[in-house]
Amino acid sequence: MLIISPIPAFHDNYIWMFHSPDSRNVYVVDPGDAKPVQQLLDKHQLTLAGILITHHHFDHTGGISELTKGKNIPVYGPDNHNIDGITNTLQDGDTIKLDENRFNIVATPGHTLDHIAYFTETGEAGNPALFCGDTLFVGGCGRLFEGTAEQMYTSLSRLASFPGNTRVYCAHEYTQANLRFARAVEPDNQILKEQVKEVAERRSENQPTVPSTIQKELATNPFLRSNQPDVIKAACNRGAPSNAKPTDILRVIRAWKDDF
Ligand code: ZN
Ligand code: FE
Repeated sequence: MLIISPIPAFHDNYIWMFHSPDSRNVYVVDPGDAKPVQQLLDKHQLTLAGILITHHHFDHTGGISELTKGKNIPVYGPDNHNIDGITNTLQDGDTIKLDENRFNIVATPGHTLDHIAYFTETGEAGNPALFCGDTLFVGGCGRLFEGTAEQMYTSLSRLASFPGNTRVYCAHEYTQANLRFARAVEPDNQILKEQVKEVAERRSENQPTVPSTIQKELATNPFLRSNQPDVIKAACNRGAPSNAKPTDILRVIRAWKDDF
C-alpha cells in the first residue's frame, strides 16, 4: 500500500512521490528539478530512499545529482549511459522491491527508445499504480521523438492491458490540450464530453487532473482507441488508408496531434 502525491515542477511536470503509510522513507519518480523535492523532504522531515527514472529527458532527470550528492541513494532507471547517476539499470520484465512493494518494469519505447514504466499492484487505496512518465498521458500520449508508431502502439497496448482500476500517474499536466484534441477526433464521445467538464473544474481550482485510470483512458484517450470506428473514421479523413491497421491509425492520429 502506498501514499502517492504529486510535486509540481517547472511549468507542467509532476514529480511523483510515494511512501508506505507508516514510513518516512520516500521515493520519487522523475525528479527533473531537485529544489521542490528537497523543500518537501525538509518541510516534512522525510528521507529520500530511492529515485525512479522513466527516460533520459532532462525534465525527468535534472535533479538526480543534487538529490544524491554525498548520499548513497539508489537510482533506478533504463539502461542508458547518457543518464548520469543511475545505479540500478532495469530491463523489461525486471521486478524491484521498494520496502514491501513490488514493481514490475515494462519497456515502453516510442516517446524515447529507453522509456520504461513502473507498475505495482499495491498502490493507493487498494488500486494498482502505474508510473508511465511520458508514454501515456491523460487523454494523450508522448510525442514520437525516437521511436516508431509501431513501438508506441505496442507500448500503449501493454499499459492498456493493466487492470481498469490501475491509477495512471503521468509526468505532465497536459490534460486540457489533450482533451481538446480528443474532442476533435471523437466529437460524439459522451464520456469524453463529461470528462472535459470535470477537468475544466479541477483546473479552475488549480487541482491536478492526474492520476487517471486505465478504465477512463480506454473510454476517452484516442491513442488507446485506434480500434474504435469513430477514431478509424477520423484517421481515414486525415489520410489513413481504408485498410489501415491500428498502428497506421495511431501514426495518423499522432501526426495530426503534432500540428493540432
Ligand atoms: Zn520526455
Ligand atoms: Fe517530459
